[in-house]
Amino acid sequence: MALTGIQILKMLPKKNCGECKIPTCLAFAMKVAAGQMEIGECPYVDDEVKATIGEASAPPIRTVKIGTGDDAFVVGGETCLARHEKRFEHQTGIGVLLTTEMDEAAVGSRLDNYNKLSYERVGVIMKPDLVAVKDLTDAAAFTSLIKTVIDKAPGANIILMSESAANMKAALEICSDRQPLIYAATADNYNDMAALAKDFKCPLTVKGVNLDDAVHISEELSKAGLKDLIIDSGARTLRAAFEDNIVCRRAAINKKYKPLGFPTIAFPCEMSDDLMMEAMISSVLVAKYAGMIILSDLQGDTLFPLFLERMNLFTDPQRPMVVEEDIYPLNGPDENSPVIITCNFSLTYFIVSGEIEGSKVPSWLLIKDTEGLSVLTAWAAGKFGADLIAQFMKKSGIEDKVKHRELLIPGYLANIKGELEEELPEWTITIGPREAGHIPAFLKEWKPS
Ligand code: SF4
Repeated sequence: MALTGIQILKMLPKKNCGECKIPTCLAFAMKVAAGQMEIGECPYVDDEVKATIGEASAPPIRTVKIGTGDDAFVVGGETCLARHEKRFEHQTGIGVLLTTEMDEAAVGSRLDNYNKLSYERVGVIMKPDLVAVKDLTDAAAFTSLIKTVIDKAPGANIILMSESAANMKAALEICSDRQPLIYAATADNYNDMAALAKDFKCPLTVKGVNLDDAVHISEELSKAGLKDLIIDSGARTLRAAFEDNIVCRRAAINKKYKPLGFPTIAFPCEMSDDLMMEAMISSVLVAKYAGMIILSDLQGDTLFPLFLERMNLFTDPQRPMVVEEDIYPLNGPDENSPVIITCNFSLTYFIVSGEIEGSKVPSWLLIKDTEGLSVLTAWAAGKFGADLIAQFMKKSGIEDKVKHRELLIPGYLANIKGELEEELPEWTITIGPREAGHIPAFLKEWKPS
């Protein structure tokens, strides 16, 4: 049973020291109860309390880490069925399948694409997370392929796929320091695979022939003391995978059903021979609870839309994406360059800065903290008014960077021109375009008055 904030508070040292970056123990306890912070972020709780609170406040779907270091992939930790109820915690991992039956060129091109297909959007890097290495021949070919992956894609998080415990052991001996995911414990081999997962301290996949079988294996592995599990229900059609993912999520969240309280893995690569169909299947499974999806290949035209879908779904709806309040020099501005101001909603920043950069006109872009609200919403909420803009202008240091005193404001803020002139009497306020697409033409015509 989950603990309430007050129950957690009783176990805290109540120093109100703020070292957890939250001003009071009560506020910290509330965040732990809501699953927004880990109890370990308070340095003063002892291990016994950590274990008690950690267990009681653990999310219904366990958080599992694959890999090590900054590039490690974390999955699970989910606490809700719909994103708007709270947020989705860890985005679906996207991986590519390599098998020991593939020739060198096929392996090389997939690893090249794994390394190459990385995109930046609104300041976030979108890239694949996993390489699944499948043993279809023998231990020598399996270990050789794993060495190729380690060599050519050093940042990749690895999934080791083999039905043979002996081959799996050989593979783990060369890459267990990368903390790979072991795939998979089946009804036939779960004792052997469990022993390997324990010995090498790696997460383990449960693979059932159906969901009931997966539940049985999951229960057996939990009894054996294994905690970091991933579920593969064995579904290899879109409909079955879709249904199983929903059953797993509902059982874990609504019923607190422990055997299914783990992230899932799905294999669109085994559901269609057509890459476009595979991408469409993947898009459904990203939206419906797959913890990881494994693709047969990575192609930019299908991967990019998947990345965008994933990003949209896994962005915290309660926390707007923001950029820092600051002065951003674009295209190498000097003391005669235009000064433009806008809000710190990151989409606005990236669109406006992209248009300015595209114009090639050296400019100073001032980003005012509007708590992530867009221009009009921020103005309506009282966060982008003339008085606040004037305060920001005075403290920003822009007056030391330019000789002129002309500020370009967004076209949608035309109604605050008079107020702003009163607040900043030394500045001329010019109303800029309403649409970012019109900024380049506007800047090319601009001259300081
Ligand atoms: S670090 Fe611990 S003791 Fe200090 S305020 Fe946070 S919860 Fe309280």
